[in-house]
Amino acid sequence: MRAMPVKPTISFENLEVAFASKSNAELRKMYLIFATLNNNLVSSIGIKLANLAFQLHLPVKGIMKKTMFGHFCGGETIAESVLACRQLAKYGVHSILDLSVEGKGDEASFEATTEEIYQTLVESAKTEYMPFGVFKVTGLGDYRILEKIQANQALTPAEQEAFARLEGRVDRLCKTAHDLGLKILVDAEESWFQNVIDDLAYAAMAKYNSSRCVVYNTYQMYRHDSLARLKQAYQVAQEQGYLFGAKPVRGAYMEKERARAQAEGYVDPIQPNKAATDQDYDAAIRYSVENHIHLVCATHNEKSSVALTELMELHGIAADSELVFFSQLYGMSDSISYNLAKSGYRVVKYVPYGPVEKVMPYLSRRASENSSIAGQSSREFELVRKEMTRRRLK
Ligand SMILES: Cc1cc2nc3c(=O)[nH]c(=O)nc-3n(C[C@H](O)[C@H](O)[C@H](O)COP(=O)(O)OP(=O)(O)OC[C@H]3O[C@@H](n4cnc5c(N)ncnc54)[C@H](O)[C@@H]3O)c2cc1C
Repeated sequence: MRAMPVKPTISFENLEVAFASKSNAELRKMYLIFATLNNNLVSSIGIKLANLAFQLHLPVKGIMKKTMFGHFCGGETIAESVLACRQLAKYGVHSILDLSVEGKGDEASFEATTEEIYQTLVESAKTEYMPFGVFKVTGLGDYRILEKIQANQALTPAEQEAFARLEGRVDRLCKTAHDLGLKILVDAEESWFQNVIDDLAYAAMAKYNSSRCVVYNTYQMYRHDSLARLKQAYQVAQEQGYLFGAKPVRGAYMEKERARAQAEGYVDPIQPNKAATDQDYDAAIRYSVENHIHLVCATHNEKSSVALTELMELHGIAADSELVFFSQLYGMSDSISYNLAKSGYRVVKYVPYGPVEKVMPYLSRRASENSSIAGQSSREFELVRKEMTRRRLK
């Protein structure tokens, strides 16, 4: 009897595919960027100096655009970023325009942010390769009001009005995505007001997810209660008869969450260790696939990405099914994005954009993620180095 052929597991080791879009000159530039980031001291001093230079109005914008900003961001404007998205689309990788600036936190800036994100949706609807929009609720309204609502504190009449305006902005963006045939992701933020974000996302799902999945909520699996929250939200969606969209992430605010819990003396919402986060992340993915939940698997973790392809195979979900999207950040984990896309999976990369000086907080986070951990080179740096060797470049 002949053995059944075993379908090989997807591999992210194909560097030729991963770096197909990069010329030798671009690869050399990437090497320099990641080599710098990999040096903890140099990278933290570099980011501090760049921030200082912007405060002093020194002409550093050009350098930033050619280095860190150019690598991790699509551009300063929607029009510039669309060019980057078009480039990704040549390799089957789709994009999500992600306004990555921190506003001033007043009503005028909330209105301006909503309008800008509205424009990203209008632009995205013009192409096939920008199927999603994205927003952070704290870009659209005052987080202190969200905090008060979650803490069951009474709002003043002015705060009630401000919250009503925030609800209107969330609705405007979700309705626009719905009307333009797009999908939209609601990013997850800090646990002390995340319940309010969840409720806004569920209200939008109930309104717009009846015939197709438009709105997706995000679940941070570094929280020990997130798997239960995801399952509960799915059950409610089933009972109320709307489609449920989930974007599991591991979570970006671990230190801040732990520090606040310790300072205020409540139980740390974060998992005891990385292994527990990984376990719940993979459980969330498994639960989603088993229940045919509309899924955006947002991770740079190779094991979780491979596990999802295996689960899809096991449950008969085609690689190009509308049910499952893989998602990474622009300028990171191209080995995952490009190899998945090449194998026919749906991949959407967040393409951050905004004026250079306003994107600095975003760039600082990317710098710390790509610095060396306990003396080990960052994975991105290792991959670029291997590709340089493969191309016999110095
Ligand atoms: C497309 C995309 C969208 C994203 N959207 C959001 C969002 O809306 N909200 C948000 O918060 N984040 C978001 N993130 C960031 C995400 O939460 C992670 O911080 C980041 O992706 C790193 O996790 P990973 O799964 O890629 O990889 P890994 O390198 O496998 O995991 C690193 C993560 O593990 C967790 N971790 C590390 N050490 C420990 C520990 N000791 N104990 C417990 N947990 C630990 C942390 O969450 C850390 O970020 C997004 C990321 C991507 C790629």
